[in-house]
Amino acid sequence: MRVTRATIFLGNLRHNVEMIRRHAPEQKILAAVKADAYGHGSPQVAQTLQQEGVEYLGVATLEEAGELRREKITLPILLLGIPHPEEIPEAAGLNLAFVVSDAEHLGWIGEATRGQRMKVPLHLKIDVGMGRLGIVPESAISLARSIGKYPQLYWEGVMTHFPSSDNGEVQPTSEQNKIFTQVIADLKAAGYEFELIHAANSGAILDHPETHHTMVRPGILLYGYTPTFEHRERRNFYPVMQLESRVVLLKSLPRNATLSYGQTYVLEHDAVVGVVGCGYADGYSRGLSNRGRVRIGDKFFQVSGRVCMDLFMVDIGNASDVSRWEKVILFGPFQDGPDAWDLAQILDTIPYEITCAVSRRVPRVYAEETQYWR
Ligand SMILES: *Cc1c(COP(=O)(O)O)cnc(C)c1O
Repeated sequence: MRVTRATIFLGNLRHNVEMIRRHAPEQKILAAVKADAYGHGSPQVAQTLQQEGVEYLGVATLEEAGELRREKITLPILLLGIPHPEEIPEAAGLNLAFVVSDAEHLGWIGEATRGQRMKVPLHLKIDVGMGRLGIVPESAISLARSIGKYPQLYWEGVMTHFPSSDNGEVQPTSEQNKIFTQVIADLKAAGYEFELIHAANSGAILDHPETHHTMVRPGILLYGYTPTFEHRERRNFYPVMQLESRVVLLKSLPRNATLSYGQTYVLEHDAVVGVVGCGYADGYSRGLSNRGRVRIGDKFFQVSGRVCMDLFMVDIGNASDVSRWEKVILFGPFQDGPDAWDLAQILDTIPYEITCAVSRRVPRVYAEETQYWR
């Protein structure tokens, strides 16, 4: 039995889908399951989402899509990234929809799928300020027209992505959505209509109902976190992942004993020290050295000394009720923490990076329960 594992509460995932539906009751949902479903394991997550009636999935790479198809996921999948031209035939074979930002890429898709009987769905992406994928609004109609040469292609969707829907500032997203809406009107006037119109990531799902259009694209909300720390008090989303390990060794050390590399932690008193079987190679960042806080039973303890590759230590003091092999929670669905936002705050990052960082050597264990400890 490997002591370090990530328990994935599928009941929490179902609950979060339900909460998203409350925010966007009329819309379809495209669930972002890229990066192995933000580290949660995309086959199982996708299966659960499929059962929950989610309508569409989004991945970043061809490999991610391939894994889902091998696991018999039949939902439509949108390839959010730009595949290399050599990857296009395989992507088309997996029955993927493509995001299109420029005419050259559209041409590659058109050539690679020429003569194919199955129609290939495309989503025209508009850049309204992200400066990443998408075409500038002025050129949208000309890009839409370039589909004309390829009878096997069709415009299924039009989309954009907001750069600041999650920073609490209403103005930019509202302006950008107006630009997006105008482009859609212009495209319509030019004879192009789209079944799927989508823009809203998690931040916009929560704060910008006018951006919901016909489909919303949640990522982080599905996994139980709001995209901004300030919103976390809206705790109706339940973290799905619990990273846990165990106390692999307990030892009594005298006052002034030092812990871990660099001897940055010095015991102030004689104390019991717990060695925990998890390290930065598991995705528990070295930046949490002397700063992270873990949960053992109903008590909290500080990471004491540097986090090593496979282990770290906690000063347990004189808490005599901690026993060897006891479970240590590194983050999970607890109202009083630690959760991925707590670690993200310490590490100056976002919960996305915390769950994505949980490495491949950590087994994901799937539980059907809904768990949220208040
Ligand atoms: C990842 C992604 C999302 C989801 O973003 P969240 O902030 O996690 O909700 C939405 N749209 C696109 C294009 C993405 O790449």
